[in-house]
This record gives sequence, structure tokens and C-alpha cells, in this order.
Amino acid sequence: MFLLVSTEVLAERLHKLYKGKLSIFPKVPIQSHEEFAIWYTPGVASPCREIAKDVDKVHEYTIKGNLVAIVSDGSRVLGLGNIGPEASLPVMEGKALLLKFLADVDAFPICLKASKASEIIETVLRLSPTFGGICLEDIDAPKCFEVLEALNHELDIPVIHDDQQGTAVVVLAALKNALKIVGKRLSDIRSVHLGAGAAGLSVARLLIASGADPSKMILVDSKGILYAGRPGMDRWKEELAGLTNGEGRTGGLKEAMEGADVVIGLSRPGPGVITKEMIESMADDPIVFALANPYPEISPEEALKAGARIVATGRSDFPNQVNNALATPAIFRALLDVRAKGAPIEVFLAAADVIAQYAEEKGLKEDFIVPNIGDEELYAREASALVEVAVRKGIARLRVSPEEEYERVVSRIKRLREAHRIMITSSIIPHIPIIQEAKEGI
Ligand code: NAD
Repeated sequence: MFLLVSTEVLAERLHKLYKGKLSIFPKVPIQSHEEFAIWYTPGVASPCREIAKDVDKVHEYTIKGNLVAIVSDGSRVLGLGNIGPEASLPVMEGKALLLKFLADVDAFPICLKASKASEIIETVLRLSPTFGGICLEDIDAPKCFEVLEALNHELDIPVIHDDQQGTAVVVLAALKNALKIVGKRLSDIRSVHLGAGAAGLSVARLLIASGADPSKMILVDSKGILYAGRPGMDRWKEELAGLTNGEGRTGGLKEAMEGADVVIGLSRPGPGVITKEMIESMADDPIVFALANPYPEISPEEALKAGARIVATGRSDFPNQVNNALATPAIFRALLDVRAKGAPIEVFLAAADVIAQYAEEKGLKEDFIVPNIGDEELYAREASALVEVAVRKGIARLRVSPEEEYERVVSRIKRLREAHRIMITSSIIPHIPIIQEAKEGI
């Protein structure tokens, strides 16, 4: 049925038909209307009093313990740009759907009419009592850096910007495995980071935290190579410009890529941003991550033809898809389960390790360096490793053992999938109808 129309047409028709992708459904039994005396007034006063006495109990008595706000102002949405809060809602619903389906995290989209960082910060602070975690999405740089920093400082729940940290985790995992294949070490490689925005800067920071040598890294943005003292940089670029580019190169991408082992593109849709000649100028066994969406900076075919040994993109229709969904759902699962007070960098480093190891166990090859989002066990493995990190880092309000977490995550995902399957087979969730593309004249 899907073959009858393009994905775009199908997506437009089905979003309209289902009127969005999420709904709120009771999770308590209600056998008679009298039971509302328990779930609502007068009974509800009792849990309210418990929470008023000890605010931490809100995690035990309410939805907060499993609820994440997906917050965006719609200022830099996927490949769509600044489309505003309303137009970004389908994307935020989609992210919530992924968190639910992959890790049984209840997530709710919050699209804000706000243009300044201070407005977003203020609003999220005021909303925070309801949520166990905040997932920032599609907020443009450098505003997103300011928002993340301030919320992390002010809030005692995990705040993650998926485009920054989610991307960085999966890029690091993919890079670790690519380096195993070509026999190079992270600490030795010369890497070029094309794009110094939300994703690019966060990837550079996580690679450095994982042992990459910053002096061997070169960052490039639309104005060329970043170097210390380059005029017109924000403080986040300045910080990395001061650490990287040990040789003090200047110029553009062409100059940056000569002799590089790795190029990581998180810049603007291609093709033509990275050229064949640039790849030919790299060191032996070049690793090319062309991650711009929806079109990679260079097509995988062209990159391979130019001599790239390993190519990754952000797309599901090519091998080696760098997909944040491999990271963020399980990270939130673990952090919610220990009622974490934050999300330190060690959590992201550990998530990258688990993702890399999981793919390695399945057998690494040039066209398999990261798992697929359908690899169900991955999420339980990640969450189980991350609860241990959270306890070790002192951010866990609850102690949960890795073994306990693994079993819990496996069983809650199984239960969720079973409930979803029953709702589909019993037509509570209507089946997808056959849709044919209307052609002119028909
Ligand atoms: P951003 O707008 O914050 O940053 C873009 C950066 O690219 C800026 O520094 C800009 O100066 C630079 N840039 C633009 N054109 C350039 C050019 N021709 N040469 C060099 N630099 C150039 O955006 P972002 O959120 O960091 O995302 C960047 C890209 O990466 C987007 O295409 C996005 O879809 C993609 N992305 C992919 C994944 C994934 O998992 N595959 C994840 C996050 C972002």
C-alpha cells in the first residue's frame, strides 16, 4: 500500500487522518463513575497532602516520574528552518512518539511562542514542576547553548538538547567503530568538523571528552576555519577555536581537509558542500560522515568513489545511519528511573560506549558501524549501563541496579508493544487505509 504514494504524500494524508500521533489514555482502571472519588476529589486530596509535606514524593504519586517535555520554539526545525512553533508541532509529536515507542517514556510536545533565550528559559522553569525531564529540540544556535546552560544550572531534573547531545553520542559511537575498522586511535586522528552549530560544537566537545586531541581538530563554519581570535565568533565558538586547530590553519574546508583522517559534516544540505577532490586530499582510509539532513554534504556514492573507506549519513535509506533515536530515548529512560538531578557528560560518554559495543558484537564492517533503531535490546542495555553511571556520579535520587534496570526496561517495552499491538488488531487504533496519489486528470 505504501508503494502507491510517496512518503511525503502519505505523511501529509495520514497526519490529517489521525489528527496527530499522540493521545492521552488512562492508565488506571475505571469500572464505575464512583471511582472518580479515588482518582479525583475527594480522594485525590490525600496524595496532594503527601506531596505538600515532601515535594520529592511527586515522583511517586504522579505522572512526573515518567514525563518529559519536548520543548521547541520552532526556530531551526530539521531541514525546514525557522518555521515557528505551530509548524514544528508534528516534529515534536514525532519525537514524543519515538521516546514512547523505543523506551516507554511519556513525552509531551510543548511548542513555544518565544523568540528569545530568556523567554524559553523562563517558561521552562515555570513548567518544570510537572516534568521529570526536559528535551530541547530544534532551537537555533547560539540560543540553544544559552538555554541548555541556564536550564541545567537552574533545574534539578535532566535537561538534554537532542540536536546537541543526542547527535554527539551517536557520532562518537559511530566514529569509535569506524576507527576500529581502519585501525586508528581517537587520540591520534586529525578530524575536520564541518559546521560549528548546535550539533557540530557538541560533537567536538564530546570527542574531546572521550580522548580526541583538540589540537588535531579543525572546525569550519560558513565563514571558514575557526582559529583563536577570529573576529565575530560567539563565546561557544571562541572556546573551541581556542582549543583546536593547533597548526593555526586558515582558509576554508579545502585547506582544512588536507591530510585529515575524518570529516564530520553537520553543516548544510548538499550535495556539493564536500567535494570529491577534498576527499582525495585526505589521509589513507578516509572516514566521511556527511550528516546534513535531508541531503548529505556529499552523496555516499560519490564519497565512496572518491576513496572514502567508511561513509555515514543521517538517512535511513543508506547504510550507517547516525540517528539520535539510538541515544536519547534510553538516556531519558535511565535518568527517569533513577530520578536523576541532571545529565552529566559521563552519561553521554557511557551511552556512546554501549551503542558502539552493541554494533561491534553484531560484527563491524564498512557498512555497519552503528546499530539499527529496530535493535530492541539496545535500549535496555543502554539504560542498564546508564543507571550505574548516574549512581556513581551522585545524581541519582534512587538507587537502581543495572540488572534490575535491564529486566525492567525489557518488560516495560514488551508490555507497551503488546498493548499497542492489541489496540491495532482490535481497531481501537484504526488501520492505515490504502491511499492512492491523485494524479492530474484522474
Ligand atoms: P546549525 O544551524 O546550528 O549549524 C549549522 C552550521 O553549519 C553553522 O555553524 C554554519 O555556519 C555551518 N555551515 C552552513 N553552511 C556551511 C558551509 N557551506 N560550509 C561550512 N559550514 C557551513 O545546525 P545544526 O543543528 O548543528 O545541524 C546542522 C546539520 O546537521 C543540519 O543539516 C541537520 O539536519 C544535521 N543534523 C544531523 C543529525 C543526524 O543525526 N544525522 C543530527 C543533528 C543535525
